[in-house]
Order: sequence, then C-alpha cells, then structure tokens
Amino acid sequence: MSQSAEPQEIHYRRVLVKVSGEALMGSEAFGLHWPTIEGIARDLADARGTGAEVAVVVGGGNILRGASVAGRGLDRATADHMGMLATVMNALALEKAIEEAGSPARTLSAIPMPTICEPYARQTASRHLSRGRIVVLAGGTGNPYFTTDTGAVLRAAELECDAVMKATNVDGVYTADPKLDPTATRYERLTHDEALTKDLKIMDAAAFALAREAKLPIIVFSIRQPGAIEDAVRGRGRSTTVAP
Ligand code: UDP
Repeated sequence: MSQSAEPQEIHYRRVLVKVSGEALMGSEAFGLHWPTIEGIARDLADARGTGAEVAVVVGGGNILRGASVAGRGLDRATADHMGMLATVMNALALEKAIEEAGSPARTLSAIPMPTICEPYARQTASRHLSRGRIVVLAGGTGNPYFTTDTGAVLRAAELECDAVMKATNVDGVYTADPKLDPTATRYERLTHDEALTKDLKIMDAAAFALAREAKLPIIVFSIRQPGAIEDAVRGRGRSTTVAP
C-alpha cells in the first residue's frame, strides 16, 4: 500500500481498475450504452482527480466471449482472438468518454494495432501513468485461453499497482449470492487464503492465483454506485477488500 503521494487523501497511489464489458452495456442486452460509459468515465476521471494514477483493463463480454462462440468449426484460439478484439472496441469507446470527461487517456493494446492505438509496453504504460494519463489497457493478456480478469491482475502486478479494483454489479463479496439468499452478508475484509478456503468466486482461478502470488489486494465494489471508484481509491465506501 502506498503512502507516498497524498497520505491523508488517497489510500492507493496507483490502481488498476477492471471494468467488465457487461458494465458498459448498462441496461442494454448487447454492446455499448453511451450514458453508462459516460458515467464510468466520469468516475474514472474523478478517481484520477484525487492524485492517484489510474489504469483500466476493459473486458469484452458485452460483445463476444471466446468460450461461448467456439465450436462448430470455430476453434477456441480464433474465438478468443475475436474476444480480444471486442475489448479493443470497448477500450476505444472508454478512452473517448474519459477524454470527454476531462482527463487525458491513452489506449494501449496487448495486440499491436498501431494505426488505432499504441501497442502495450510496460514502460510506455508506466510513463503515461506517471504523467497523469488514464491508461486503458485493451486485448487482455494478448493470449487466448485467458480472461481480462487475468489481464487485470497481470498488468497490476507488472505496473506495480497498489491494488486491483474489481468493479462488479454487487457491492462486495457475500457469504452467499444475495439475489438468492436474503440472509447473505457482505465481507468487509478477507485474506486471499480465506477466499480460497471458503470457495468464494472473486475472479477466475488463474487471475486469483496470480493476485495471491503477487500479494495484490483486490477491492470488490459496485460500478452502479456513482463515485465508487474514487471511494475505493480513498479506501472508503461499500466494498470488500481481499488482502494478505
Ligand atoms: N480474451 C482472451 N485473452 C485474454 C483476455 C480476453 O482470449 O487475455 C478473450 C476471451 O475470449 C474472452 C473475451 O476476450 O471471453 C472477453 O474478455 P472477458 O470475457 O474477460 O470480458 P468480461 O467478462 O470482463 O467482459
């Protein structure tokens, strides 16, 4: 945890926010819902306004998930390439919305496509972050058979982020699915080991294993709550913190 920049103000100096593709579609069944994207972009710009450095890994599930279209002649690796391209579309939309919200932003793609955005390189991403730009990371890990959750943890680890902020539809991790069990209660804090022992599904297994190995805190909060990203950066608000 960082105490460097503005210790009273922000709890985390450099953060990686994971925004799923589904978060970008709002109430739609597919694709992009612009007012929703504008709201998320404002929240990201506000989080950066605290003085924190903000990177974002964006998913693609609002457009295409490899595993759900693979089969019947379409092999998994090709389907996953298509899924990664979906994340690039989302990243470009989010980059534009962040700039509209008043913050400089750059999209960096794990799959090089230099005519539309910069290729991902750790040093480039780090430089943009230290210059106050929000870095939108597209293409996940750049490899099939992975997810953008794994991409998020991987980038958070290599960019030396203080935490992964997992924006979901629920305001934290619960003892049971709160939609199915009204007695479910939210955890305020858990260790990675407790989450594993209790079999709480916070991220896919590869992503979670990497977070545990890198001792990276994961903050789970609801993207539906305006200002939630800034709250998470300031170490407040409704959320669950998974940390060693
Ligand atoms: N994907 C991939 N490798 C990665 C990240 C993503 O192949 O490192 C593909 C995969 O097909 C995945 C799709 O991109 O289904 C969209 O990513 P994800 O499902 O993680 O998006 P989210 O659920 O966050 O919207």
